[in-house]
Amino acid sequence: QAKKNKHKEGVYYCVDMEDAIAWRLGIIRQLRHDFARNKLEVWYQPQLAFNDLSLIGCEALLRWPLENGTYISPAVFIPLAEDAGLIVDIGQWVLEQACQQQKRLESAGADICIAVNVSVPQFKVKGYAQTVKNTLLKYGVQPKNIELEVTESVVMDELETVINTLQELKKLGVEVAIDDFGTGFSSLSYIQSLPIDRLKIDRAFIKGLPNDDTGAIAALVISLGAKLGLKTIAEGVETQEQAKFLKDLGCDEVQGFMYAKPMPEHELIEFINKQNN
Ligand code: C2E
Ligand code: MG
Ligand code: MG
Ligand code: MG
Repeated sequence: QAKKNKHKEGVYYCVDMEDAIAWRLGIIRQLRHDFARNKLEVWYQPQLAFNDLSLIGCEALLRWPLENGTYISPAVFIPLAEDAGLIVDIGQWVLEQACQQQKRLESAGADICIAVNVSVPQFKVKGYAQTVKNTLLKYGVQPKNIELEVTESVVMDELETVINTLQELKKLGVEVAIDDFGTGFSSLSYIQSLPIDRLKIDRAFIKGLPNDDTGAIAALVISLGAKLGLKTIAEGVETQEQAKFLKDLGCDEVQGFMYAKPMPEHELIEFINKQNN
């Protein structure tokens, strides 16, 4: 398909690019609007121990429903929210939702940990650890019941500041996981100096198991975790074969559609009640 080009002040803009920019701005405007009107939802995906498939926690995942009943993927709108400076407020809202859900679960007899994704811009705000502390106090949540998931990109720059913040969080008693581990291939050299608890093996290294070469990477992450005294959790496990492969390697925990998909908060309570029966 031929692309039309417009000539503007000596720069060539592709019409498709203008469309893309307009599309992004439209999404950002709508997101700001819907967030302000409390239209976003937080869903929860169970995390299980590999040995006995007991529930150990769940991951909080943002959901943005549209009028027509469909959802926009967070993989699409989170990066836009980061660029637009919206993620700090949205991320804080997710943490508060997770705290409230944790208290509901606790009252229902499930004293489990909720993992919350943290974006780089949130983590970099001065006083982030203090904000987390205040939030836990506000809802009376025990620090051990909240896990913060940061990606390797958090660790990429300003290592010293990042380590300080991680140490403050550790002192506070919250859990910290490195999400999508292995996709940023940044932190292998200093992963041992980070005060963290868990490595999350990205789905990219699990999708093709047990047949493709990524098994070598999954194995590497699991043994690295074991050597450094970190828990390993596999995300995106969809088949028995993948589960067996990972369990045999000594992976501690699992999260995937095979066991449970992300679900709205009331369904999670039902899921837990069913598990206990
Ligand atoms: P993530 O943190 O790596 O979350 C795991 C993603 O894998 C989720 O996608 C989950 O639904 C998906 N998943 C889990 N098990 C399976 C499986 O067996 N098969 C497949 N195909 N997928 C599986 P989701 O919910 O679409 O979220 C995508 C990403 O958006 C997240 O990846 C995270 O980076 C970001 N995100 C979601 N919620 C938040 C949030 O509250 N804050 C921030 N900063 N980012 C978020
Ligand atoms: Mg995550
Ligand atoms: Mg992940
Ligand atoms: Mg991921």
